[in-house]
Amino acid sequence: MKMYRNPAVFLDRDGTINEDTGYIDSPERLALIDGAASAIKKLNSKGFKVIIITNQSGVGRGYFSEEAADAVNKKLEEILKKQGAHLDGIYYCPHHPDDNCECRKPKIGLLEKAKKDLDIDFKKSYVVGDKVSDVELAHNIGGKDILVLTGEGMKHKKMLKSQPSYIADDLKDAVEWIIKDSLKS
Ligand SMILES: [Mg+2]
Ligand SMILES: [Zn+2]
Repeated sequence: MKMYRNPAVFLDRDGTINEDTGYIDSPERLALIDGAASAIKKLNSKGFKVIIITNQSGVGRGYFSEEAADAVNKKLEEILKKQGAHLDGIYYCPHHPDDNCECRKPKIGLLEKAKKDLDIDFKKSYVVGDKVSDVELAHNIGGKDILVLTGEGMKHKKMLKSQPSYIADDLKDAVEWIIKDSLKS
């Protein structure tokens, strides 16, 4: 049986790294949340693979094209790079919720792909996001779940069925917790 090695932090995009300004259909609508770039940089320095996992149903709904979604992701990568932060991967689900695909969060299709691409050990990994689906995603891979209170986090906190590993004010706070937690095991 193959052994996977790397710990990863799977990050939601909208409402976690950048402000959730609705369906983000062009790079001009990207606005980073304070401290997000330096938080990612810190994860890089601690040896985590940092991977964005995002549902972009705006594609499946016909609101914008895959090219537009790619342009937004590329721009985000550039903004982060300028601040010294590196993304190991960006994976997104372009489907409509009714498509019943295997990649829309909380399903784990995209993470299975990342696991093979980047040699990731789910058990040593974390999921950070602002929605119930991000918390459920963590459960579905047996990783630790962190809800951030940016984006839709305040609203989704009330909808949780179980207490997450940690509730963070924002990504910066989440990353500080992850680094401390990872040193315990
Ligand atoms: Mg989100
Ligand atoms: Zn999908």
